[in-house]
Amino acid sequence: MAEQTIAQQIRELMNNPEKIRNIAIAAHIDHGKTTFSDNLLLGAGMISEELAGKQLTLDFREDEKERGITIDAANVSMIHDVDGEKYLINLIDTPGHVDFGGDVTRAMRAVDGAIILVDAVEGIMPQTETVVKQALRERVKPILFINKVDRLVREVKLTPEKIQERLTQVITDVNRLINNLAPEEFKEKWSVNVQDGSVAFGSARENWALSIPFMQKKKVSFKDIIDVYQKGEEEKKKWFWEKAPLFEVVLDMAVKHLPNPLEAQKYRVPKIWQGDVNTKFGEDLLNCNRDGEIAFVVTNIVIDPRSGKEITAGRLYSGTIVNGMEIYANNLKRKYRVQQVLVYNGIKPEQLEKVPCGNVLAIVGPSVDVGETITVKEQSPFEEIKHIFQPVITKSIEVARSADLPKLIEVLRKVGKEDPSIKIEINEETGENLISGMGELHLEIVENRIK
Ligand code: GDP
Repeated sequence: MAEQTIAQQIRELMNNPEKIRNIAIAAHIDHGKTTFSDNLLLGAGMISEELAGKQLTLDFREDEKERGITIDAANVSMIHDVDGEKYLINLIDTPGHVDFGGDVTRAMRAVDGAIILVDAVEGIMPQTETVVKQALRERVKPILFINKVDRLVREVKLTPEKIQERLTQVITDVNRLINNLAPEEFKEKWSVNVQDGSVAFGSARENWALSIPFMQKKKVSFKDIIDVYQKGEEEKKKWFWEKAPLFEVVLDMAVKHLPNPLEAQKYRVPKIWQGDVNTKFGEDLLNCNRDGEIAFVVTNIVIDPRSGKEITAGRLYSGTIVNGMEIYANNLKRKYRVQQVLVYNGIKPEQLEKVPCGNVLAIVGPSVDVGETITVKEQSPFEEIKHIFQPVITKSIEVARSADLPKLIEVLRKVGKEDPSIKIEINEETGENLISGMGELHLEIVENRIK
């Protein structure tokens, strides 16, 4: 039989929710999320080494025009093989450097599991706490990756015993967080555990990782890793890639320990949806019924820089979205028609005729806000997507020539739509427009985008 292309495999797996994992990576800034995500994609054969080296994939906004990517590449799909079975991994991410509370909350609504990534040297930081809190509030199950272990070996020059102590400390701290923040019924169940393999550790920069199940299966030890650090660059790189490839360890862990949509929707829907689960629609949501009425939650909006079209991305919890169908936006209380249905093949968007529930996808057609619930007829909406942070810094933006004012207002509206964590006050008469954001860096990025 001819080998299926990746696109064909993705289309097939999309129809089998048991084989889907919708996941996010949550981390404090600079703990290595961008490097880590790129290495997952590289390992799964979705991007070239050159692209991964440049760390462009999930941080694409600046060069999206040059590369012709017209959809939010911050969502990507990969295929991963575990014991001869293929799985579809949808990785929902936010660009590394705009990692503010608002974005993370939105991503959590689309996924069922999260990889909490923690720098081995720094340990848990305030933002780690925030993202764990956001995940648990959405009933998103956490697993742990401890990154930058190479620094413990090389910079801090710890002995294997001391390294183990350090890793144990990070695991204990993460479990304390989970224990404090998880709903009662999940406190025990969702604790991460190095023995069962819900914890892995390694180096995103050097592209290796280990977990206990992987070490047992492949007969590699942590001592092997330390020994390899005595060897030359090339030899080391080759060894890591052959014996302890990061993507394999991490995606194995995600498939094994994170729930599929059928499992997750049963306990997530009662928490994140406002309606009565004892109705037909409620049951369709709980059971991820592809023949039910559609229920699509909008988690991200991207404006295509070339066509100006709004691309509305989100998670489909029930039903099947079909191109051309009429849909209803429950917050705005109005109808739209679906003009395009898109999924991701690696980082490339691909148009399809229809996509069933359990998947993360994008549509063109509606013009709504993040958090909108899209159905066929009026229904109870999903819970509002609440941001933990409030904007703290305000700046005034003015045009050099007053003739440009309408253009600025138009741009400000678009920017506000794409990033609900900023607040925009437009004064069409005076031309004094105020934008408020989460901090200096955040506002700087927004200003660049406006320019
Ligand atoms: P993000 O802000 O979480 O997306 O972090 P980045 O992926 O941009 O990484 C932040 C910095 O940490 C960069 O300089 C990376 O090269 C570095 N880094 C990422 N992973 C590792 C690692 O495993 N080991 C070391 N030593 N540095 C790393």
